[in-house]
Amino acid sequence: MPKMGKRTATCACGRVTLTVENEPGMVAACHCDFCQKRTGSVFQVGAYFGPDEPFEIIGETRIFNGMEMDGVPSVRGASVTYYFCPTCGSTVYWEEKGSHRAVPVGNFVDADFPAPTMEVHTADRHRWVPEIPGALQFPAEFG
Ligand SMILES: [Zn+2]
Ligand SMILES: [Zn+2]
Repeated sequence: MPKMGKRTATCACGRVTLTVENEPGMVAACHCDFCQKRTGSVFQVGAYFGPDEPFEIIGETRIFNGMEMDGVPSVRGASVTYYFCPTCGSTVYWEEKGSHRAVPVGNFVDADFPAPTMEVHTADRHRWVPEIPGALQFPAEFG
């Protein structure tokens, strides 16, 4: 990935900051029921970075394993670990070990952040939400 300058994301209360140095390898929107509930929004948008890319977190985070119930991964498969700010509850990032780390795009508060190039779980898209122009569309999981 080319270095395009640092970007810093913060949680809602500002106690946790996360700085990345590279452009995200992918920006994706997910419309699944889990992402709707986790965010309280009707879809989530994440910026995905490789597991070894620069990724600096300052501040305390608390872990919840979002796709597990009593330690058992859901039928969706991948075990994803979510890191939250323990003060304000914002999602700081989530990680699938060895695969990626992802940052909620909203935490950058940057209207010029690259738009998603992929939408997944579009079968769950709210009827009033249009397709993102040019984004690949996947009714369920990617691939
Ligand atoms: Zn916070
Ligand atoms: Zn999702």
